[in-house]
Amino acid sequence: MSLTAERKDSFFSKQEKIQWIGYSEQTEEELGGLSIENDSFQVHPVFIPEQVNEDYYEGFCNNLIWPLCHYFPYLARFEDHYFEAYKTANKLFFDKVDQVIQPGDTIWVQDYQLMLLPEMIRQKYPDNKIGFFFHIPFPSYELFRMLPVIWRKAIVDGILGADVVGFHTNDYVENFLKAARLVSGYGNKLHYVHMGNRIVKIDSFPISIDYEKFNGSYDDPEVAEVRDQSRASLMEKIIFSVDRLDYSKGIRHRLHGFTKFLQDYPQWHGKVSFVMVVVPSRDTIEQYQFMKMEIDQTVGRINAAYGDIYWQPIIYQYRSMSYPELVGMYTASDVALITPLRDGMNLVCKEFVASRKDSQGVLILSEMAGAAQELGEALIINPFDINGIAQAIQEAFEMPAQEQTKRMDAMRERIRDYDVFAWTNDFFTQMMMLEQEYERLK
Ligand code: UDP
Repeated sequence: MSLTAERKDSFFSKQEKIQWIGYSEQTEEELGGLSIENDSFQVHPVFIPEQVNEDYYEGFCNNLIWPLCHYFPYLARFEDHYFEAYKTANKLFFDKVDQVIQPGDTIWVQDYQLMLLPEMIRQKYPDNKIGFFFHIPFPSYELFRMLPVIWRKAIVDGILGADVVGFHTNDYVENFLKAARLVSGYGNKLHYVHMGNRIVKIDSFPISIDYEKFNGSYDDPEVAEVRDQSRASLMEKIIFSVDRLDYSKGIRHRLHGFTKFLQDYPQWHGKVSFVMVVVPSRDTIEQYQFMKMEIDQTVGRINAAYGDIYWQPIIYQYRSMSYPELVGMYTASDVALITPLRDGMNLVCKEFVASRKDSQGVLILSEMAGAAQELGEALIINPFDINGIAQAIQEAFEMPAQEQTKRMDAMRERIRDYDVFAWTNDFFTQMMMLEQEYERLK
């Protein structure tokens, strides 16, 4: 990672109009050949036939790559037709790139849904610059090798079609370098993979958020209203969590940690409200429906066991939040409790920190989130250790205001300096500087 001080308008404003290629949920007929365009973007929809899309997106992406990369191998389903659909869908994206691409264009491919695409582009367009960013954890080799040999080789070679490959953390970089070495035999020198006639740079670029937007929302009247109302109507201490419904988010473990806290620290009974928002996601998949049922039941049990007619320990919502509600809750809370069992980065914790213009509040963060590598001033917990979660809540509640400020300010400064615009600039700067680096490496 290299830090750049350039901001929001620097990189993209210097560029031609961005050509955005993405999957369309609407069919070609429904869209009626409509071209979506504004001053800075032109959108090119990719249409994927329904059955292919099911095997590609629900299948290969969500039933195999997602659980494998988040260290849930027992949930991974290895189906031949998934991989066939994955190849087909990547090729459909390539066909669209092929229609749109111009000489000299830089192409930035995003995420695990398109791991074969960089190589497809490279084969036909050897001179265009290609970047690839992987938004989830790249797992240790012992998990990656669970993929059939042909699939894992296709994935590694596909990604290495790019010139620059980005991950959130150095651990993921190391895991990928090892996979490249063991799967395809490509050696590396530091962050560079040697591919005969080309060198590919593999580096970490921890994705971030629009710091100024969150920081600047503190005084918005709608945000202030949610904050004031929450503080007035909830208990003395407020814990907040928000995440998509997903087994990787550690929602059940968080509930067990909170139960342990209620058991071990009864002095807080009647004085704490845990606002837990779960945003609906992938709930057509059986696994997710089951998880939702388990969460519903666990919350019911905790509220029934510990609550009374004046106090409900957990206020649980299964819905999405508006922006003012979200920032209102970020800024009303004493504690953000973020306990993923595995998370590529986790943006919620960065948003919480950026929103805290008052420099108050304590972040409790799982060591399994990529963000933990940047936010060492948080109370770092192991999400499997329910005693650790309970103790961290107690520590957070007792933390003096001055100590909260010290920790919060250090984290805020780091996120401010490397926000999402710095992240983009960093990635593109590295792509632009490649030639010079190659000269140096020769
Ligand atoms: N978020 C949302 N709707 C909501 C609540 C939150 O879109 O109702 C946003 C939240 O602001 C954050 C994102 O969802 O930007 C979650 O990102 P994160 O990296 O934490 O987890 P992911 O869902 O990408 O695994």
